Amino acid sequence: MANNKRLTTSSGAPVGDNQNSLSIGPRGPLLLEDFHLIEKNAQFNRERIPERVVHAKGAGAYGYLRITADVTKYTKASLFSEIGKKTEAFLRFSTVGGEKGSIDAARDPRGFALKLYTEDGNYDIVGNNTPVFFLRDGIKFPDFIKTQKRNPRTNLKDPTAMWDFWSLSPESLHQVTILFSDRGTPKSYRHMNGYSSHTFSWINAQGERFWVKYHFKTKQGIQNFTREEAVKVGGENPDHATQDLHEAIAGDDFPRWRVCVQIMPMADAENYHLNPFDLTKIWPHGDYPLIEFAELVLDRNPENYFQDVEQSAFEPSNIVPGVGFSPDKMLQARLFSYPDAHRYRLGANYSTLPINSPHATEPQNYHRDGAMRFDGNGGSSVNYEPNSFGGPAEDPQYKEEAYNFEINDRAARYNHRDGNDEYTQAGDLFRLLTPDHQERLIDNLADAMQTVPRDIQVRQVNHFTKADRRYGEGVARALGIDQSEID
Ligand code: NDP
Repeated sequence: MANNKRLTTSSGAPVGDNQNSLSIGPRGPLLLEDFHLIEKNAQFNRERIPERVVHAKGAGAYGYLRITADVTKYTKASLFSEIGKKTEAFLRFSTVGGEKGSIDAARDPRGFALKLYTEDGNYDIVGNNTPVFFLRDGIKFPDFIKTQKRNPRTNLKDPTAMWDFWSLSPESLHQVTILFSDRGTPKSYRHMNGYSSHTFSWINAQGERFWVKYHFKTKQGIQNFTREEAVKVGGENPDHATQDLHEAIAGDDFPRWRVCVQIMPMADAENYHLNPFDLTKIWPHGDYPLIEFAELVLDRNPENYFQDVEQSAFEPSNIVPGVGFSPDKMLQARLFSYPDAHRYRLGANYSTLPINSPHATEPQNYHRDGAMRFDGNGGSSVNYEPNSFGGPAEDPQYKEEAYNFEINDRAARYNHRDGNDEYTQAGDLFRLLTPDHQERLIDNLADAMQTVPRDIQVRQVNHFTKADRRYGEGVARALGIDQSEID
């Protein structure tokens, strides 16, 4: 057995001197044959992998999901099958628009990406801390994100691009209202809710399908920073939320969420007053109350950030029997984008990394080879199917019916804005805020829009006005826009 404290090269050869490179004479030059020097620096040069295009800055922790109520009449998913059942979980929180070293206190949605290691494979619920999103069609996602990133000429964040895009995309108004409310700057990752945002489906043992939305309600209570507090904290400690999560768990103060679901019977979806698959809309609680059925607890910090958090790969396409997708156009685009991003960022075998591979079952398939294959690569077993040599085979009991209703319509590029109400729910949110919260919202918006050209400001104020007259008037007043300029 090797001395495990002995420094070695990657090939295991003992290193005799890790302080001095090999040189001719004490003043150099160096010898190319100093392979230890070369290996060290070459390895160092390759330490970074591409950061995520979105959600680059994040923190994560392990924990579990524990079932607290019976939902088996709605879903046959094994992880939800019994009260008390526990499933290992990994949750990665993040901001969206900033780079990997950007501040945790930014005004930005927060990612809330959950991986559940079930015995039927990994189930990923890749949500945010907001119940809605800026867009309802994934074809606009690259355009939108470019407005949140840096200006191609100045390399600066660009409020004009943001408000130009938002004011030309009225479906964003609901999420913009959440973003500039106090909830746009959560005090920590522990003090915010998570939402699946998308509609998914649950399928029960009889094959009946229900539309569902997940809500993760923080047991720590919602706590937010004001704009001024966020600026101060972000300046003092760019990693405050990362630190908060780590220290809470290290101190055995485990963060917890009540896990709830809204359930819509399939028949309701046809005639409901809004499209239940529109990611810019919530389902009012009055119509579909929250049903609490589980608790999510984070109780273990990762041992190594890069291995577990940086290399974690979440994908909404990771589902298990008993759950399914919905026709939500954003979700459908994400089903492609996430695994595609991982193949680019982490490589073809990203799913075999320990954080991403199933923990409660053994993947058995015919995927072979590719860069950095280190898991045995299927050994000497047969690598095609069907075969006569006992390789893994399909099991018809798991054959999914993509949608067990008929979709019979013309293929076309349907205008998602036709007849769509972009304003009522944003107005509902404005009206439920307390007067002082409304004032902070208006002040945050005016502050963010102050450098934006007047025509774009006016266009956006018209949207606020359509959501609620007082909302529009407030922002107009704060920006010094005369009411005569508003439609
Ligand atoms: P409800 O009165 O039943 O629910 C209001 C919801 O608003 C609560 O979930 C509350 O969260 C949340 N909320 C409070 N302040 C804010 C804020 N600053 N930013 C975001 N959410 C906030 O009403 P409805 O279900 O009829 O919804 C009315 C409006 O509430 C919606 O248009 C939407 O903007 C917002 N909302 C609705 C949600 C839903 O799924 N129905 C979810 C989140 C927001 P909490 O309970 O944690 O305080």
